[in-house]
Amino acid sequence: MYRTHNCGELRIADVGKEVKLSGWVQSNRDFGGMTFIDLRDRYGITQLVFNSEEDAALCERARKLGREFVISATGIVRERSNKNPNRATGDIEIDVKQLAVLNASRVPPFTIEDDTDGGDDLRMKYRYLDIRRPVVRENLVFRSKLAIETRKYLADEGFVEIETPNLIKSTPEGARDFVVPSRMNPGQFYALPQSPQTFKQILMVAGMDKYFQIVKCFRDEDLRADRQPEFTQIDCEMSFVTREEVLQTFEGLTKHLFREALGVELPDFPRMNYDEAIRKYGSDKPDLRFGMEFVELNDLAKGKGFGVFDNAGLIVGICAKGQAGEYSNKGIKELTEWVQRPQIGAKGLVYVKVNSDGSFKSSVGKFYSDEDLRQWAEAFGAEAGDMLLILSGEAEMTRKQLGELRLEMGRRMGLMKPGDYKPLWVVDFPLLEWDEEAGRFFAMHHPFTSPKPEDEQKMLSDDFETMKSLRANAYDLVINGAEIGGGSIRIHNRKLQEKNFKLLGFSQEEAEKQFGFLMGAFEYGAPPHGGIAFGFDRLCAVMKGQTSIRDFIAFPKNNMGRDVMIDAPSEIDPAQLEELGLKLVVE
Ligand code: ASP
Repeated sequence: MYRTHNCGELRIADVGKEVKLSGWVQSNRDFGGMTFIDLRDRYGITQLVFNSEEDAALCERARKLGREFVISATGIVRERSNKNPNRATGDIEIDVKQLAVLNASRVPPFTIEDDTDGGDDLRMKYRYLDIRRPVVRENLVFRSKLAIETRKYLADEGFVEIETPNLIKSTPEGARDFVVPSRMNPGQFYALPQSPQTFKQILMVAGMDKYFQIVKCFRDEDLRADRQPEFTQIDCEMSFVTREEVLQTFEGLTKHLFREALGVELPDFPRMNYDEAIRKYGSDKPDLRFGMEFVELNDLAKGKGFGVFDNAGLIVGICAKGQAGEYSNKGIKELTEWVQRPQIGAKGLVYVKVNSDGSFKSSVGKFYSDEDLRQWAEAFGAEAGDMLLILSGEAEMTRKQLGELRLEMGRRMGLMKPGDYKPLWVVDFPLLEWDEEAGRFFAMHHPFTSPKPEDEQKMLSDDFETMKSLRANAYDLVINGAEIGGGSIRIHNRKLQEKNFKLLGFSQEEAEKQFGFLMGAFEYGAPPHGGIAFGFDRLCAVMKGQTSIRDFIAFPKNNMGRDVMIDAPSEIDPAQLEELGLKLVVE
């Protein structure tokens, strides 16, 4: 037997017991006659003591143990004279009588501590050492807990967990497919699923009623900081449901997960339609941990001789509470440069500081009287000490830029508090987005999303402006400014689905070739249905108040899409290529 207890469970009540522990050497401290070893496993750390007066040879062996050696130690639990209140086992130590080295270790390339000296690449290359660090380990344990609680909740709600294939053909979720050559069908390829979308709809046609799966999805996108080429969704679909029932079910799931995994009771989730989110926050995933709602100034600021505003489609700003005193001229200059960075792209930034004597200081003071500025301040509900930050230009772009500035101010002002959770349903997205350059519509969500019931008839018309105004029966779950989930009520009749493909620029043959199986299924009694998918990695990160999903994935890829531990992707054998009927044209 390797152990009687783990390294996290012994307490003062265990004093006097003979125990055996196994684990890794976290640290080894030699105090002349005494050697102290911190022994670590998944459950915690326990201090081992070796006394040379009791057993000089044993103590000498202990002294030689390096970091990360795997050992087992047998001894007696005793009360520590020098207790460590920061450790669950801090009241006790083990007076070791026997020691076995189970495996040696090379000196690890970085310290196995929460605050490690290892850089990203090194940590990923030696991910097995990285995962020994409590922070990473706890993230994975947390993720496991969420997965288990998800299954419990959905099973209680009558959902059936069904696996769908990984070798499929393209499902357009708006990204590129990863493809897999077929040896048995030379010249033909499978695609890895961007999501199980079409399969879960087929399962509804098949009468399964409530489906879920915690499933890997694959999207070959240019990687951004918070994207992974393979990621996990909690994927769900339900039959005979309206939007309301889907929202209730998954609001329930979210509340359940917060309650069970964090002990947090979430209140009912507010709802906001897409237009309002864009108008008030410049984003379809607003962070509601703070206000700073947009105020539009077109009526108040135009026609006073300031050309930039006079020519702007939209003049819109935010009020940064109490910030007037925080920003010197230099601070304003730095903030202006921040909005002018190419990632944000604003031309300039106008500020108005509300002074305590009722006067104003502003970069556009020569165009606007104090009375003008007073009216602005009133529109914002601004008080002495506040600072207005105003952008102008083409409406859509300006809102986006101000949305970024709002988030930046929220960050700077410490308004994104850890432990504060603000969920929100964003609803009523546009169904289609017109792409001027491509000269065609794109599906805002995906091609299977239905219009709102009242827009269904309109969709069958052929009027361009009508198409632009169609609303989707789609919804996103946003928490603290992160998109956690998205879904929709689906189209379930062939005629409407055909029309949608046509609007999206598919010829009839293309639509038939790619999605004939789904439209065919719609002809055999497809029930009304809808669903949603949560980004599981991101849900973990947001619940833990972190920004990177990588820290919640056991073996993530780097920003070049590489797994640096196994070194993938990599070349394959010429013989393997030949077998697949493939020839390399790039060397
Ligand atoms: N398949 C969709 C996605 O991956 C989710 C859904 O519509 O249920 O975003």
